[in-house]
Parts: sequence; structure tokens; C-alpha cells
Amino acid sequence: MTDPNTIVTSSGHRGLDLAEPLIFELDSPGRCGVDLPPAPAVENRLGGLERQAPIGLPGLSEPQVVRHFVRLSRNNFAIDAGLYPLGSCTMKHNPRLNEKVARLPGFADIHPMQPMETVQGALELIDTLADWLLTLTGMPAIAMSPAAGAHGELCGLMTIRAALEARGDGGDAREVVLVPTSAHGTNPATAAICGYRIEQIPADDRGRVDLAALKEKLGPHVAAIMLTNPNTCGLFENEIVEIAEAVHAAGAYFYCDGANFNAIVGKVRPGDLGIDCMHLNLHKTFSTPHGGGGPGSGPVVLAEALAPYAPLPMVVRNADGLELVENAFESSIGRLKGFHGQMGMFVRALSFILSHGADGLRQASEDAVLNANYIMAQLQDLFSLPFPGPCMHEVLFDDSFLKDSGVTTLDFAKAMIDEGFHPMTMYFPLVVSGAMLIEPTESESKASLDQFIASMRHLGERAVSGDAEFFAGAPYLAPYRRLDETQAARKPVLRWHGGAGEAEAAE
Ligand SMILES: *Cc1c(COP(=O)(O)O)cnc(C)c1O
Repeated sequence: MTDPNTIVTSSGHRGLDLAEPLIFELDSPGRCGVDLPPAPAVENRLGGLERQAPIGLPGLSEPQVVRHFVRLSRNNFAIDAGLYPLGSCTMKHNPRLNEKVARLPGFADIHPMQPMETVQGALELIDTLADWLLTLTGMPAIAMSPAAGAHGELCGLMTIRAALEARGDGGDAREVVLVPTSAHGTNPATAAICGYRIEQIPADDRGRVDLAALKEKLGPHVAAIMLTNPNTCGLFENEIVEIAEAVHAAGAYFYCDGANFNAIVGKVRPGDLGIDCMHLNLHKTFSTPHGGGGPGSGPVVLAEALAPYAPLPMVVRNADGLELVENAFESSIGRLKGFHGQMGMFVRALSFILSHGADGLRQASEDAVLNANYIMAQLQDLFSLPFPGPCMHEVLFDDSFLKDSGVTTLDFAKAMIDEGFHPMTMYFPLVVSGAMLIEPTESESKASLDQFIASMRHLGERAVSGDAEFFAGAPYLAPYRRLDETQAARKPVLRWHGGAGEAEAAE
């Protein structure tokens, strides 16, 4: 019998999975998808700056263009195609109701420069969403405009810096931001962009911040701590109240990275834990679509002490209705973004919130945590847990179960692609060796989790049985197999040179 994996087709296609060249390779010079009349003669006012040569757009017909992009799109993996267990990313289903509401002309067709009285509904929506986020976090103030989690971190640290400066404690006085070793890379990057020096806080053997080590590092030189809770090991920082007290006693601020809020919505209010500010990733917790660099939204909740420094604009209710205040406070850090934030994401997030209701939001968190713990329970005899469970909304395995097998975390992740699963987050957090961070989210059914678990067990058993050669060659079924990721990051080939460079850019 013919082994399907050994079939080489004459076309390069695999069944109806169609191989697709670069658009430049499809070029027929002069071909065009539309018939345009000759351009009318116009007076040349470019003063000698006119283009001397064609700009090199490929010539294609409309069906060629459509097929090209449809074929490429079929190589994309998406949450709409299957389970996407990328830890710390909360790749949950994006309810279609959100999309329907976002497309209502009253939301989709407005312009940010319309007169204020014509966009009262949009401002009401921003205000209502802000109110929900304040209620869920138990915080008094919010900045809605940051465009992503990392942008929210920037907003938060800028308000902290402004507050410190206002009390005469800025500049060189407090020049350090403390960041745990398990932190997301954006945390130290944000602190560095704001001019701070970063000092790391080690994790203890429970995968949490080492409180004693933190207390030793605190002092009059520390501006803030940035901490994620639940942390990126998928564990709740259960000494967070003591941490907040110690940070405040040292005169520093507590920035909480709220990317993992999905684990605790409706269960814990971060404001009750003593945090001073926290970003929320609407594109994670509140189901607005993300991936591929699409629009995010990272509102930041702020304590009273930081509220005067919030960015502008901000929605304020006055006697005439809602107003977008653009210049009210002198103490504001100013504008972080053109216009008012990611309106389309606000609509989707509020649609998610209202369609779930308060009880539904709590249940979503409970289900997210239950799903992660189910995966942990089904795999922990075969895979290695660096820290004992139960976990929160994501489960962290390390590579100690692969010891002496010759299989690495990377090999294992590549083999998952052949099984039809997007790999989990790999090698992050950095506190464990060969991390595999799995976040199923609440939107997976038990049947879907069971299928994932079965594939994981199949691969896990194959790996520990010593079949390293198989793993070293994976993925076998992907259109492109092992890319040279270092080369791609360090020396990306981003220009088409008429075929030269093609070999470089390929595998
Ligand atoms: C996703 C994430 C961020 C950054 O959020 P973006 O919206 O991608 O900028 C920060 N911290 C943690 C823990 C995250 O998971």
C-alpha cells in the first residue's frame, strides 16, 4: 500500500491544499484586473520629482489576486479553525454576536472628528464599558485609550513616573523597577523605555515571587514593581497583599500586569489586593479578536493617587451629556494615541460583557480554570510539572520529562503541528527549563480538550520512548517545515529581488 506521507505530487499541491508562490512569481507584466481609460493629460507640477521608472507592481488578473490571497489565508491557523493553546495569550472564541454589533452602522460608520453631540451613543458605550471594567477590577479610575497591553504598561508606568515627579521623588531618586523573573518581556521593556533600570526578583520553589527577596530589594531607589497575577506560571500570587503592603511601605507603586485577568474575573477584584494600576487586554479577556498583529486594546485602571496623571482624552459626563475632554488636567501625561482608543474593540468587548452578564463572566473564568486543570490532571503522569497544581487558567509543563530522550520542547511543538494543533507557548516563562505553557480558555468543549489530550499523550509517549529522529524531522505535513527562525529574525529577506534571495528566504 502507498504510504500517503511519501506521495510527491507533480503540482506541489497536496490534495486541495494548494501550494502558492509569491505574488511576484505570478507576475505577467502589463496584466491588470481592471480596464482603466488612459489618464488625461495634466499639467506636471512635480518640479522634476516625478517617478522615473515603474514601481514594480506585479501584473495579475482579479481571479489570480483573489486566489492568491485565499490560498494564503488557508495556510493561516486561527481560533476559528481549531484549539489554539497559546499560554498567556487567551486565544478564546470571538463570539459572532460581537462582530454583528460592531458592524452596526451607528458604530461602524462614525468618524472620530464628528461633532460631540452626534456621537453621544459612542461615548455612552465607552463610558459603560469603562464602568464595567472599574466594577470588575474594583478600581476608581480608568484610561481607555491605550491600544494594547504593552501600550497600557507604558501608560501605567508614565503615570507612576508623573506621580513620583509630582511629589519630588522623580528623576534619579527612584530609578529602579522590580520585575519578577517570570515576567512577560513587555514588562522590563516598558520599564526600560520609561528610563528605569530593571532589577529581577527571583521566584521561589512554588513558582511565586520570593517575598523575602523582594523585601530585600525594596528601598528608596525603587519606583515600582511590575507583577502579573495570576503569574505566567499559571499560579495565583497568594502573597499579593503582603507584596502590595511592602511595596507601598517602601514608597513605591504596584503595577499589575492584567493580561491574565481571564482567570479571576468575577472572583477577585485586583483593587482589593492593593494594586495601583493594571492594564486589561480586551483582546484576551474580553474576546476581541487578536493574533497576527491585529488591533488590540489595553485600557488601564488606576488608583486615586495615579488618576490625576491619566492620559487624555477622557470621557466625562456633564450637564450637556457626555464629553470627550481633551485638555482638562494639566497633570495628565498627555495623549498616547491618535483619537480615543480602539472603538471597534470597545464595542466587541462590551458586547461580550453584556451578553455574558456578571454571572456569565464569572462562569467563563471558572470554566477557563477548570479546563486548564483538566488538562493538567490528564497529562501530569506523563508530562512534568515544575510546580504542583492546581493551576489557574493555564498549565505549565517543563522539559524534564524529555530528559535523555533527545527530544526538545521545540521538536515536540513542531510535532503538534502534524497532529493539527497550534503549539502551546514554548520556552516562556523563562523560570523553568523548556517551558510548555498551555491555555485552553473556557471556549473549548470537553470533547475538544479530550482530542488535544489524546494527541499530547500520543506524542508524549512517543517522545519518552526515544523516537528522537521522528521529532527532529517534524513537522512533516506543514507546507513549510523547519524554518531557520534565527536567520528569519536577524536577516529577514523582505524585498523581492526578481528571484535572487528566493533560496535564502525559503527553508
Ligand atoms: C499579552 C501579554 C502582554 C502584552 O499585551 P499585548 O496586548 O500583546 O501588548 C503583557 N503581559 C502578559 C503577561 C501578556 O500575556
